[in-house]
This record gives sequence, C-alpha cells and structure tokens, in this order.
Amino acid sequence: MRLCLTHPQYGYYTTHPSIFGADGDFITAPHVTPVFSQLLGVWIANHVTTNSLTDFELIELGPGTGRMLLDLLPTLDKLRATPSSLTLFEASSELRKVQEKALSSLPKMPNTRWAATLSEALDSTPKRPVIVVAHEFFDALPVHVLQKASSQATSQLQWRERLVDISECSTVENPSFRFVLSKAVTPAVALAQSLQQKQCLPDCPVVEICADGISTAQRLAESINQRGGAALLIDYGSDTITKDTVRALSKHDVADVLARPGECDVTADVNFSHLRHGVSSVPSMRLWGSITQREFLLRLGAAERFRVIGRSVIAGGGSDQDVDEKLVRLQQDYDRIVGVGEQNMGEVYKAAVISNEQDGAPFCFGQQIQ
Ligand code: SAH
Repeated sequence: MRLCLTHPQYGYYTTHPSIFGADGDFITAPHVTPVFSQLLGVWIANHVTTNSLTDFELIELGPGTGRMLLDLLPTLDKLRATPSSLTLFEASSELRKVQEKALSSLPKMPNTRWAATLSEALDSTPKRPVIVVAHEFFDALPVHVLQKASSQATSQLQWRERLVDISECSTVENPSFRFVLSKAVTPAVALAQSLQQKQCLPDCPVVEICADGISTAQRLAESINQRGGAALLIDYGSDTITKDTVRALSKHDVADVLARPGECDVTADVNFSHLRHGVSSVPSMRLWGSITQREFLLRLGAAERFRVIGRSVIAGGGSDQDVDEKLVRLQQDYDRIVGVGEQNMGEVYKAAVISNEQDGAPFCFGQQIQ
C-alpha cells in the first residue's frame, strides 16, 4: 500500500497531481465548499485564543492541492490568529508544486516551508507551540491486514498477516497479484497482540492495523507535549472497526485493490482508538473524540454560517432563477459536509483532537454528544 501511494516514481500521490475534485478520483470537503475550511479556522482561532498561543506554527499534514489553506489562512487573519510560520508536510513533489502555485495567489503568507518527512515537519526552529491539521491524511497511510488462521501445530486460531504476492499466471507483459497469508508471525502481528492486551482489538476474523498512523499520532503527541498546542484530525473511520475496509478508488468508484497499483487511490478507514493507543503512550496527552463531523461542524456554527450566506445571496439580487440556483447549490454543499447517510460526509467522517489533558477539553469536545 505504501509503494502504491508514495513510491517516488510510480506512486499514486507522487505521480498524479490531478486526482482531486469532480474530474479526479475523489472529492474532499475543502473542495466542496470554502465554509468547511473557514469553520476549521474558527476552531483554530478559538484554540489559540483560549490557550494564549500568540506565536504559533501551523502544520498541515497532506495538504493535497492546498485548497484548505487558501480558505483557512484568510479566516485566521480575520480572526487575528495568524500563524507565525507554516509547514506543509507532503510526500509528493508534484503536489508540492501545486500547493506552492496555489498559495502564491494569497496576498499575505506566513513564513512557509515544505517538509518531506514527519521528523523534518516537527523539527522546526524556533520550537513554537504548534497547531497541526490533518484532513484525510491518516486514511492514506498503509495498513496491515491481519486474519485469523488455524495453526498447523496446535490447530488453534492465530493472527496471520495478509500479504501481496505475484500470482502464478503473472507475466512481464501482464503482471497480476494475489493475496497470501504469512506463514510466520510478522511485526504487525506483534503489534496486534499488544493492542489486544489493551482491549483495542475487536473480536472479529479480520482486523486492520495502521502502524504508521499509530506512530504518527504518538509523535504528534510528543511534539505537542513539548511545545504546547493541539492537532485536529478529520477523517473517515470510527473508534471501532470490525471489518476489512481497504479499498481502491478510481474516478469516484470502488476499484480492484490489486488491479492497477499506483493508478488508483488505496485507502482504509481510520481506527481512532488505535491512534488513541499511540497518543496515550505519552504521559498527560489525550486524544479527544472522535465525534462525528456533523456534530463538530454544527458546534462550530455551520448552520448559522450557511444561513448568513443564504441571506446574502437573496440580498445580492439577480434573477429569481439565478438566486434559486445559488440557494439550491448552497443547500447541497451544506448537506454534503453536514448531512447523514453514506453519500454525505456528516456521519462517515469523524473529528478528533490530540492535546494535553491539563489544557482541558478542546473547543467542541467538552460536553457529551447527544
Ligand atoms: N488534505 C487534502 C488532501 C488529502 S489526500 C484534502 O483534504 O483535500 C492525502 C494527502 O496526503 C495528499 O496530499 C498526499 O500526497 C499526502 N500524503 C499521503 N501519504 C503521505 C505520506 N506518507 N507522507 C506525507 N504526505 C502524504
């Protein structure tokens, strides 16, 4: 999965900069409506004000086309929460070019740099408090898929890792792949056993473990513990995943995971309880949530924000048909990011925050969700 997504020469993200939006393979919330990123700006401004973080660094993990920053940075300026510096963590040199071009259209920019590794991203000087935003980043990290199989020696069920092999009919001209089960215990199996001891593994025949996600969450927690700040994570997934969710996406449709490596997005649901496992290894650090994106955006005032835009559309005048079309589009955008059901993002996506327990519950994560 790692090679398929980020191999420097053949990876999906590294070689396909036009994968976002209606003409690409998938659409993300910042491309649906600028209101999404503006609301994240409200969350960040609230967090930095409440915690008196006047001089902070903003880090985005996996910025895609840079669309979120284009709407987020002006909002932070308006709310007097401008970051002192900005770091974009991006594996793809092609996407880095797209981001650089997009950001050059902004009239005002903080001191900005790009990082190709997480260590580089977190290792800036001076070490200011940090606000990390990761939207649809963790779902792009490779997962290990483990399956229960009976051991020949004891005939008891044991975890084995699902691996990718070259299939018997594969040729140089027509390569093809197949899944096989590992014969021995792999490092991912050992990680599964430690998650099992912490009751983080559901009792089901197939489990997915994102070791990179767990270690990334831990490293974010370590950095925030030293520097102060918080990380806001938004992604599809949940606290309990009881099925195999690895899938390939191409042109807004599900594709065969093994068929066109490097040509399709390969993704898996994010298991927030596993990320919590990584965070909790750092004393006093906590992962808050996850709560649904719907709940999060409504708490940030999404309904009121869309009502205000609706009123300004009506006040702006124009033909009845024009106004009606704009209002319908506005309603569609609202439904897409806040609405329920599989077609919308409101319940499928979750929000979580990594911060220090001593800072108290972050904005929107305080009360129990109804
Ligand atoms: N946040 C954007 C893009 C999400 S797609 C949005 O919501 O529109 C995932 C992004 O993460 C892409 O920019 C991809 O190139 C980047 N990415 C994926 N795996 C990565 C890795 N291992 N290291 C750094 N960036 C990665």
